Amino acid sequence: DRPWRPVTLDSLPLRDDLRGRSPYGAPQLDVAVRLNTNENPYAPSAELVDALGKASTLAATEANRYPEREAEALRADLAYYLTPDAGFGLHTSQLWAANGSNEVLQQLLQAFGGPGRRALGFEPSYSMHRLISLATATQWIAEDRSDDYTIDPVAAADAVRRHQPSVVFLCSPNNPTATALPLDVVKAVCVAAEEIGGCMVVVDEAYGEFRRSGVPSALTLLPEQPKLVVTRTMSKAFALAGARVGYLAAHPAVVDALQLVRLPYHLSSFTQAVARTALAHADELLGTVEAVKAQRDRIVDELPTLGVRVVPSDANFVLFGLFSDQRAVWQGLLDAGVLVRDLGLPGWLRVTAGLPGEMDAFVNALRAVLAASP
Ligand code: PMP
Repeated sequence: DRPWRPVTLDSLPLRDDLRGRSPYGAPQLDVAVRLNTNENPYAPSAELVDALGKASTLAATEANRYPEREAEALRADLAYYLTPDAGFGLHTSQLWAANGSNEVLQQLLQAFGGPGRRALGFEPSYSMHRLISLATATQWIAEDRSDDYTIDPVAAADAVRRHQPSVVFLCSPNNPTATALPLDVVKAVCVAAEEIGGCMVVVDEAYGEFRRSGVPSALTLLPEQPKLVVTRTMSKAFALAGARVGYLAAHPAVVDALQLVRLPYHLSSFTQAVARTALAHADELLGTVEAVKAQRDRIVDELPTLGVRVVPSDANFVLFGLFSDQRAVWQGLLDAGVLVRDLGLPGWLRVTAGLPGEMDAFVNALRAVLAASP
């Protein structure tokens, strides 16, 4: 055991723009009811576990070789999967996959952001848009959403013209506020992005499968919007967060751009095999979506009866409040064995729609916390 010379983070030649920053991450606490990271509560069935195991074993027989670098077969499967939501057939060349949609977002910023460039978002929204911008040395510009957390299409287009970003982030359904964007907002931003020239519009649809009926996906706009990118993930509706698979649909030229920044063999053969097996079981996995949506709707209906406000949800989570001290409510719930998310949004907390029993526990704990400190 040789002693290591001490070193502190401050003494390392870290980039100035990263100094004083904290890593992103929700607490991973050992709590009975975990409703804080928008996971799907349904573990894979025994049959699917078996199929995933077999796919991994098969991949293991060739583990001495690098994986298929372009992940063509997986991208073809994803293209097929997206077809109903898009309303038209997609091609492998219009799909791209990486280790979680966070990596897809990072690759987009590596290709289209970077030093001297700006990314624009409408907050509150998914904080990784800001943090990945920072990590890729892209200047982050935040515009506020309206008081009801919607985005006004005229104001959004105006923000694009004023700030002249290289990348605009829209999140639909938006994390943490949960409501999907009407397509006129996406269209208005795309038109403004075309006007200023050279601006990509990224619609993060990580929670797309949980949309209420009648809310179309931004995928439907792809044919007419060459700079539009729609990102998705297998972490939520597909109940595959552990496998780390995210993807996007866009014009093939966008995929060509991402090929310039992706690391060679970035998607392991195990990941590709597991993702393809999950896609082959899409019906089973997506069968959980309706059950999750039912619990989401139940929370949206039930919390107001406790005097709690909710924001309309197209996702697998609900933003609820308004508390004079949301941290105290968060702590009270945690003390009762229920972990929800405090995103630092004054007055609000976010709860993921879990199993029926978990939601019972959540509602009962919340009732007790509110009774103790109204
Ligand atoms: N986008 C949004 C809006 C999210 O909430 C998340 C996960 N919390 C992601 C992207 C990233 O998910 P993943 O990397 O697991 O695909």
